[in-house]
Amino acid sequence: MMGGPVCLDFVNTLDNRPSQPKELLKRFVDLLWFCQDTGLLSEARVNRLIEHSYLSADMAAETLRSAIEMREAMYGVFAAIVNKQPVPRLALGVLNAKIRYAAEHSHLAEKDGRFVWEFDTFNAPERAFDEVMWPIARSAAELLASEQLPLVRMCSSKTCQWFFLDISKNHRRQWCSMKQCGNRAKARRFYARRSKADGKEPSPQGTQRRTEKSARVGKLSGRNPS
Ligand SMILES: [Zn+2]
Repeated sequence: MMGGPVCLDFVNTLDNRPSQPKELLKRFVDLLWFCQDTGLLSEARVNRLIEHSYLSADMAAETLRSAIEMREAMYGVFAAIVNKQPVPRLALGVLNAKIRYAAEHSHLAEKDGRFVWEFDTFNAPERAFDEVMWPIARSAAELLASEQLPLVRMCSSKTCQWFFLDISKNHRRQWCSMKQCGNRAKARRFYARRSKADGKEPSPQGTQRRTEKSARVGKLSGRNPS
């Protein structure tokens, strides 16, 4: 996992924030694939929700809008913490509303002699979509209330700034991934040169992302709806 907690990976789905923001969650199905790739939803459940989304396109679009609103609130909160700034009240308020909503739909389930948090699932399409946001909201709540909060970092690459959790031994990690972020910077330069050569817009996504960032988020920009 790139960021560690899923909420950080989620914030990173607006890529290239510092320079040319690139939305990786363009369609509701991208959000579903994010949930599948991060293990929040099973493939079967994702396929079911994809079917629902064809029938309730407006509601799927509204869920995506709401998820992005939550993501940007998370970004506001985490960026303020990392930059040692006051946390914006508005962002925290938006995030708290999502966390409260997730809490209303969470319960404990017994699993192998232990208890785990589970979230309600609804079969009716009009109620089914929101479940994709609840575990992400919960992840943010847990991280914000945990002792690991001071370990949240923003990648030092000025063109990256992905969030990650620094669980390295000396807590001095600066890059989201030394190898991958370095390669990515190199690839950007390659794309910039190539675009100059053939007079096209730079296109540093697609195959580059798939190979050089986490395979999981890579799928978001690499897949096509069927
Ligand atoms: Zn990075």
